[in-house]
Amino acid sequence: MHIEKKMVEWRQYLHQNPEIEFSGNLTSDFIAKKLDEFGIEVHRNIGKTGLVGVLKCGSNDRSIGLRADFDAIPVQEENVFEYRSQNAGMMHGCGHDGHTSMLLGAAYELSRSRDFDGTVYFIFQPAEEQGTGAPAMIADGLFTRWQIDSVYAMHNLPGLPLGHVETSPSSVMAAENHFKIEIKAAGGHAAMPHLGSDPIPVGAAIVTALQTIITRELSSIGEPAVLSVTNFETNGGANVIPTRVTLSGDMRCFTDEAQAKLQTTMERVIAGQCQSAGLEYCFEFSNCVLSTVNSEQEAAVAVRIAEKIVGAENVNGQCSPYCISEDFSFMQREAPSCYLLIGNGAKGHKGGVALHMPTYDFNDDLLPIGLKFWTALVKDQLASQTCFV
Ligand SMILES: [Zn+2]
Ligand SMILES: [Zn+2]
Repeated sequence: MHIEKKMVEWRQYLHQNPEIEFSGNLTSDFIAKKLDEFGIEVHRNIGKTGLVGVLKCGSNDRSIGLRADFDAIPVQEENVFEYRSQNAGMMHGCGHDGHTSMLLGAAYELSRSRDFDGTVYFIFQPAEEQGTGAPAMIADGLFTRWQIDSVYAMHNLPGLPLGHVETSPSSVMAAENHFKIEIKAAGGHAAMPHLGSDPIPVGAAIVTALQTIITRELSSIGEPAVLSVTNFETNGGANVIPTRVTLSGDMRCFTDEAQAKLQTTMERVIAGQCQSAGLEYCFEFSNCVLSTVNSEQEAAVAVRIAEKIVGAENVNGQCSPYCISEDFSFMQREAPSCYLLIGNGAKGHKGGVALHMPTYDFNDDLLPIGLKFWTALVKDQLASQTCFV
């Protein structure tokens, strides 16, 4: 089998048959069938449609986990090439079809060469886009059924030249938090506000006051965060003072410490504003995804391997964090880890269309680079003499 050609075939098949969230039964079947063909032990239903391939070689008890996501996004594809999505309203607009093919390619190569000593866990994850796939796999025992010493993940990034690698020894991506604030008041007649109580000035003051948290409570050096109130809703009318204001929004930051501090401070600010007006409030804060924070040692390993594969001049091991988010962050709380971004193609070139755009496509030229990275990483971390089975 010519693996480079096969990976393109698999990638385009997956692209044509996208499935979203946890509904990836066909995709999951496809991956399971391939792993089985390669002689790799397959464990299914780890996080619903998620699956883990286990390849053990030699006698060493060291191990490594490699994670690829396989879900698509709910977007109508606008590409016109032959392998475009056949499922209305769904497309592989984030390149998870490519991530899956690269990892399958590595699984094939490693199952043939078997030149390592230890266990490789091939982790295929659904529902990354919702931030729920990784927690579901963890809840189903990903890190308790198996001893995974370290775990790695790779995501393509359009706008970055093909094969260029970006990672960091600390934060790579933000935590995503959503909040909802409900302010309750007596309401009243617009012409006689003094007879009731008005939640609107309080809501407006909260919108402004929340912004001061970012500039007054966090260090301007090294503690970036962004808070956006994205919705301001009331039940008032032109001459009716509302009884309710609901504010909701999104807050992103880069460390667990900043997140805890921001949550507490937000509540303090909201409580203060409401108290000064004598109004009641309700504050809901939910952490959708934790911040993606690499372990220093694993990041150094990833950088060293990437330099071997694509050349030191194409690797930035100290990248600034990106404000997007990833649920790989949940796996990072379970084992030492590294998440890296790999260029899908510069803007204006093949692979340069931004993620989640209806005309995005994973660059097939990246497949062999990803495969080489995964196999070199395994052989480095589980190095030994060739083992025979
Ligand atoms: Zn993605
Ligand atoms: Zn995405």
